[in-house]
Amino acid sequence: MYTIIDGKATSASLREEIKNTVNERKASGKRVPGLAVIIVGEDPASQVYVRNKHKACEEVGFLSRIYRLPTETQENELVALVQELNRDDAIDGILVQLPLPKHLDDKAVIAHIDPAKDVDAFHTFNVGKIMLGEPGFAPCTPAGIMELLKAYDISPAGKECVVIGRSNIVGKPMAMLLLHANGTVTVAHSRTQNLSEVTRRADILVVAIGKAKFVTADMVKDGAVVIDVGMNRDNAGKLCGDVDFESVAPKCSFITPVPGGVGPMTITMLLKNTLFSAEN
Ligand code: NAP
Repeated sequence: MYTIIDGKATSASLREEIKNTVNERKASGKRVPGLAVIIVGEDPASQVYVRNKHKACEEVGFLSRIYRLPTETQENELVALVQELNRDDAIDGILVQLPLPKHLDDKAVIAHIDPAKDVDAFHTFNVGKIMLGEPGFAPCTPAGIMELLKAYDISPAGKECVVIGRSNIVGKPMAMLLLHANGTVTVAHSRTQNLSEVTRRADILVVAIGKAKFVTADMVKDGAVVIDVGMNRDNAGKLCGDVDFESVAPKCSFITPVPGGVGPMTITMLLKNTLFSAEN
């Protein structure tokens, strides 16, 4: 029998805690945490993500500002806005919604965000801190996964942890967080040979590939904890993960569903990082 890791419920209780802290701040005369989100262009998925972030901020009582810039915005204009927000005392977190239009270099823009307001933890300074295991911002999706493990009393210490995917926003920082939690970590990717053999070793398997239902039952050890980061559409257009939930779940001890697993945690961790920034 497997347990479904409920990201919605875990996220809701964390948001409640954040809201309470905001209310305590208000009651003691402190200002509310502020998040600024910059979106350039009309990418429909990005528009939805930005709306959801705004809604989440309002829900917990944060100040939320959205800056919508036209597709043809030049890098110097975008950097000028970032620098203005760096100096803005009402703003604790600055997020540049990715992907940016092709003519803009996301790394160059992110480099201008004050690392103390880099709530996405994409700035090189914060990436370095994650590598060193120093306290600070953790990238939202991997940090959300660590919170889910904690909520279900799943400790990576001494466990074989396999992460499939090595992106800068999910796979690599995920591996670092599991390593800092004393897991024995393997990172697999598209050039990994005998992938199934590697994944079958995993006590904790984190899948962040971006391919619908890629991980099948034969790739998973009995009793494994399976964390599915993927957000894809299946042939019928239905939202699904990178894991074939129906066949894999019966082999697991714990598994995250899609939707309702990792997804709801990501924005919550953004709120947590923004609160951390305001408090520090
Ligand atoms: P990404 O940048 O495209 O990286 C995908 C990774 O998967 C790469 O490292 C790639 O290997 C690896 N990969 C691709 N095909 C593979 C294969 N056949 N076997 C083994 N490894 C393979 O993607 P990402 O940004 O990390 O996102 C991954 C998924 O998570 C996507 O579905 C995305 O939508 C989702 N996501 C969800 C959230 C959330 O909040 N729930 C947040 C972020 C991302 P190479 O490096 O060798 O190319």
